[in-house]
Amino acid sequence: MTPDEFRRHGHELVDWVADYWSSVGSFPVRPTDPPGAVAARLPDRPPAEGDGFAGLRADLDAIVLPGMTHWQHPGFFAYFPANTSGPSVLGDLVGAGLGVQGMLWATGPAATEVETVMLDWLASLLDLPERFRSTSAGGGVIQDSASSAALVATLAGLHRAGGGTWRTDGIGGSRYTVYTSTQGHSSIEKAARIAGIGETGVRQIEVDPATLAMRPAALRAALAADVAAGCRPAVVVATIGTTSTTAVDPLPEIGRICAEFGVWLHVDAAYAGAAAVCPELRWTHSGLELADSYCFDPHKWLLTGFDCDAFWVADREALVSALTVMPEYLRNVATESGAVIDYRDWSVPLGRRFRALKLWFVLRWYGAAGLQAHIRGHVALAQRFATHVAADDRFEIVAPHPFSLVCFRLRAGDAASESLLERINATGRYYLTHTKVNGAYALRLAVGAPQTTESHIDEAWSLLSTAASDILADSPK
Ligand code: PLP
Repeated sequence: MTPDEFRRHGHELVDWVADYWSSVGSFPVRPTDPPGAVAARLPDRPPAEGDGFAGLRADLDAIVLPGMTHWQHPGFFAYFPANTSGPSVLGDLVGAGLGVQGMLWATGPAATEVETVMLDWLASLLDLPERFRSTSAGGGVIQDSASSAALVATLAGLHRAGGGTWRTDGIGGSRYTVYTSTQGHSSIEKAARIAGIGETGVRQIEVDPATLAMRPAALRAALAADVAAGCRPAVVVATIGTTSTTAVDPLPEIGRICAEFGVWLHVDAAYAGAAAVCPELRWTHSGLELADSYCFDPHKWLLTGFDCDAFWVADREALVSALTVMPEYLRNVATESGAVIDYRDWSVPLGRRFRALKLWFVLRWYGAAGLQAHIRGHVALAQRFATHVAADDRFEIVAPHPFSLVCFRLRAGDAASESLLERINATGRYYLTHTKVNGAYALRLAVGAPQTTESHIDEAWSLLSTAASDILADSPK
């Protein structure tokens, strides 16, 4: 493809994406075709000769769109959002066009330095503690996901617990242990498995049934019991905004306990971290100055397309010394000078894309004010939905909802709540998912798509309310 052909087809595809965004609300939010339908529309093998671009755009419409779950749809209320935006897509386009591989400073000075500055910008936007900035002993890096952030935090915590040695089976006959709440994300257990600790080394700490936040006293008891049993506690993962209900663990108490036991504290704010662009939502950061590492996903709720997890450490040497392996072919003068950051030492993969561009584009396009308006708009929409639910005594809200997620159920019970979810999703206009809260089935409505407005919230509520009437009328008296 020549640069001129690229220009022509690129313009066509930018138009295609813009048209998609303009019309996304008119599609059913989820596909209705059975599994295998998309694959069946594709040929069995690639073309023997290149067949150009002519048919490709039509195939996007005929093959891809009908098989899409539309995460940018204004009725997408499932899981947590994965919102994107024009500046993010354009940043990715430039990064792809530059095609740089920024594993070392030497292989991508601009990729490295823009990333360092963007993580510092984000730290000041969120008012993170000074110790996470590159101007202190810490610093930030882009990981592909909060799961990878949990993994590298676990590795750094284990390495520090071992006094700078690599023994995943523990030190001096003691087994390593890792802690999170019963509501902690599954990636924490996965990280422990990958790190070689195994499931048996992961402790799930009980939560307060009203707030669903970790109980510090239970954490302290578990740590003390493990130490008494000869284990070496290595990492505690606290969560700001749990996946199920957006519970916020009490960081000040957890941080003090971690310091007492000499344990690495990682704070996972994958979804809710974006809320801290708004000063009124920054209460979640109380105690964050006690954390060793922190992450959140701009790719969830900060208008930056997947993949982009922002991860900071307070002591960059602790991370780098855990992950550095130096083969001869990567040796270079800049690295040896000690004056540069080589991001390959901050994450699992060696190769790295220029992902900081999309963050830069998003931060410049929206500015702090635009991002605050984005978060505040979604929080207000979720609170509007919660007001509808709270005013109807057939329903109950089952967890605090400080951000843009509301968890609710029909008082009639699990079966009725489950049918409610099936009915709202069958409309094709809205997509919600479920969870269990204190053992009871609950629906989750997570606002996060850029195009969601009050009318979508009100219509979703109206459909839920009508469906509830039908379900309750049909249920045995
Ligand atoms: N941590 C929390 C609290 C989450 O809610 C999620 C996903 O929803 C994750 C981690 C995993 O995120 P990622 O897909 O970036 O690995």
